[in-house]
Amino acid sequence: MKPEIKALLSRLPKVDQLLGEPEIDALLAAMPRRLVLKAVRETLDRLRSRVMTGDPDRPPDLDRAAVARRAAGLARELARPHFRRVVNATGVIIHTNLGRSLMADEALEAIESAGRYYSNLEFDLEAGRRGSRYSHVEALVCDLTGAEAALVVNNNAAAVLLVLETLARGGEVIVSRGELVEIGGSFRIPDVMARGGAVLVEVGTTNKTHLADYERAINEQTALLMKVHQSNFRIVGFTQAVETADLVELGRARGLPVIEDLGSGSLMDFSAFGLRREPTVQATLAAGIDVIMFSGDKLLGGPQAGLILGRKDLVDRIKRNPLNRALRIDKFTLASLEATLRLYLDEGTARLKVPTLRMITADYAGLRRRAARLKRRLEPAAAGLAALVLLDGQSQIGGGALPDQDLKTRLVALRPATLSVNRLEAWFRSRPTPIIGRIENEALVLDVRTMDDRDFDLVVAALSELKAEAGE
Ligand SMILES: *Cc1c(COP(=O)(O)O)cnc(C)c1O
Repeated sequence: MKPEIKALLSRLPKVDQLLGEPEIDALLAAMPRRLVLKAVRETLDRLRSRVMTGDPDRPPDLDRAAVARRAAGLARELARPHFRRVVNATGVIIHTNLGRSLMADEALEAIESAGRYYSNLEFDLEAGRRGSRYSHVEALVCDLTGAEAALVVNNNAAAVLLVLETLARGGEVIVSRGELVEIGGSFRIPDVMARGGAVLVEVGTTNKTHLADYERAINEQTALLMKVHQSNFRIVGFTQAVETADLVELGRARGLPVIEDLGSGSLMDFSAFGLRREPTVQATLAAGIDVIMFSGDKLLGGPQAGLILGRKDLVDRIKRNPLNRALRIDKFTLASLEATLRLYLDEGTARLKVPTLRMITADYAGLRRRAARLKRRLEPAAAGLAALVLLDGQSQIGGGALPDQDLKTRLVALRPATLSVNRLEAWFRSRPTPIIGRIENEALVLDVRTMDDRDFDLVVAALSELKAEAGE
């Protein structure tokens, strides 16, 4: 080891010395000692390796107070929950990485109550004996959708697995080649099929599948005909897919159940708001499908869940599958799902109170006003730091719903004057409440569609802190 590096290392303060520093001492009163110790040791480790690998003529500040300040910063970081709130300024409404759907106040109150108090989770209050956890939402789901029976499991991936395992294990399931999707997080139809013990029979081609393709593939081994929503992609051009109603007719004629993985099933018809028409859950059931599955936290705007709806005899078999016990939902899901579904009893209410629906149907004029307000509020802090521009742009629904749907929005773009746009983005992302935007054309853009007006305070504070830091 070079003597100058050795000399630098000997200047590093000792753990005990740092613990005696006022800044660290104050932290010991405010947070668990083990967190403070961990931060101190880790800070020293990091400095040691920087000294050993860095330029000895430009060493880090090894002054005891400076090291203590570093360690205190790390300790405060360690004391914050690792799982935390962020501001979603990406404009992707159902952002799987950022927690998908936000929940309505009514759903949050239901969760709070389910956590704070005992409940009739599995207790029949009328009969005074054991009840079923599924009874709380089944009637409501059926009432809203026209389904005969319903079951809710952990998520839609679980729903698809459970349905296949119950209705098709050991048999063949016919699916169009154009619908063999992969959703993020390694959910792939062929793999789920294999896990469910069913044999996938692909029919048609990537771009075109005809009813006759399904018809020809039917044999004594066939257990199901299945449709899968393309979700996160779209095939355009010379294409053809078989309508649900036609597939249902074929299934009826051959005595085979027809099921559909709707992915991001919606109870609301968004075409009234100028969006592309997508078959709703109700319309798919009305077309005569035997069983459908969809997510609770995509377009529905509720908690993570997988809803299974359809024919009573089939849903009853699915309920009795022992795998169902392993995939069952917890009381928080149940409470918030019921509260969310209740909002749908009046579609106007759902549109205003379910955040996912509110964000999707937000009108451009309102977004424009809100973006202008955010820009105005950022102006004092931005002076000399970044140019602020209002731009038109596109939001995305996300969650594999309507992937090519244009959703015109208004963006606030921050074009930094001195630091790089990557540094600016990282600064926002490293705040105690991280702010996640996106980089476009050398600017950090913030989409107000996915932001709450209360988020604006956090964005203004983040920029002000950056200005203070830069001024130092
Ligand atoms: C999203 C999606 C799934 C998985 O749903 P999760 O609720 O995330 O488990 C399955 N199939 C399709 C078509 C989807 O879009």
